Amino acid sequence: MSDEHGFSTRAIHAGQEADELTGAVVPPIYQVSTYKQDGIGGFRNGYEYSRSANPTRTALEECIAALEGGSRGFAFASGLAGQDTVARALLVPGDHVVVPNDAYGGTYRYFNKVAKPQGVEHSIADMGDVEAVRAAIRPGQTKMVWVETPTNPLLGIADIEAIAAVAHEAGAVLVVDNTFATAYLQSPLALGADIVTHSTTKYSGGHSDVVGGAVVTAKTITVPGYEDAEERIAFHQNSIGGVAGPFDSWLTLRGLKTLAIRMERHCDNAEKVVEFLEGHDGVSQVLYPGLPGHANHDVAARQMKRFGGMVSFRMRRGEDAAVKTCAAVSLWTLGESLGGVESLIEHPGRMTHASVAGTELEVPSDLIRLSVGIEDVDDLIADLREALDIHG
Ligand SMILES: *Cc1c(COP(=O)(O)O)cnc(C)c1O
Repeated sequence: MSDEHGFSTRAIHAGQEADELTGAVVPPIYQVSTYKQDGIGGFRNGYEYSRSANPTRTALEECIAALEGGSRGFAFASGLAGQDTVARALLVPGDHVVVPNDAYGGTYRYFNKVAKPQGVEHSIADMGDVEAVRAAIRPGQTKMVWVETPTNPLLGIADIEAIAAVAHEAGAVLVVDNTFATAYLQSPLALGADIVTHSTTKYSGGHSDVVGGAVVTAKTITVPGYEDAEERIAFHQNSIGGVAGPFDSWLTLRGLKTLAIRMERHCDNAEKVVEFLEGHDGVSQVLYPGLPGHANHDVAARQMKRFGGMVSFRMRRGEDAAVKTCAAVSLWTLGESLGGVESLIEHPGRMTHASVAGTELEVPSDLIRLSVGIEDVDDLIADLREALDIHG
């Protein structure tokens, strides 16, 4: 499958040749741990043991690499397992990382509570401000800049191309967590990033039925000392073993096939929900990169195809109103996670971002986050209106 093919063609076909034995058009679930060898070391197509490689996982890894326009894909048991593998493969004690000031809570917790005690230091920076990123870099010590765009839950936008230049100038690799935008809306590797990570749990899987992660490396990484990043990640994936299982790989692959049409519908619905929220008195601010008033709207318009399905908003009457609104909806499901076909609502301060309370990453208590699903948008808006008319 060449890079010349369109996105959906790659999503449906990359890594997914019809099964040689039976002609099955979908990669079978190879629920197997080990493989018969044709004589010692005679591996069939390289398969030896399923931590090292499994055909269903290979199909997913090839597909996600093709979607991101990268060199190689790696599938993990969760987004965080993938992030951990990237960090361990590329960082050693004494190294320094620049982390977003509104990173996914689990990402910040990882750098603060897991990597830091092991000697990897970090500073946080507002990734929406390229000069703030430059200022956070410690020359000679900063080896990685970690970017999420859009961010969770504040929907901040980072200029991937500009930050790639700043990171590379300092001799650091740029990692972009592309979970929110997905490979469909944004191509970080084409903008200069060295590595892309995903929680495929979210839009890539898309049906709230599987937890998974993916990492994709760029075709060429020129940062001195990191040219072999792909081999290092491959070695660590196998050595640590946080891999995606066959059934999880299969579900994620199935989700990816419809990513493009799902994302178009998520975006259509989010735009209409944003328009409704902007017109409601109970809402003091709507956070969405598609709004012309968003601080980095121009950057988002340049690097994203559309603006995504995540919307956050603040309640004029504060935390109590936010909490009550989350409880008053009925079609929207109160829950963590995001990116599934069904619409979710949550209060980040008490739910997804409770782990960053009291840190520099604390989120406003009057904030509500929506993962706008692909239901009929009029139903979604009617349900929200009912809750907001009472509590807004
Ligand atoms: C959910 C999420 C993660 C972590 O992924 P898991 O699959 O939950 O381990 C990382 N980054 C972002 C932006 C996320 O939303």
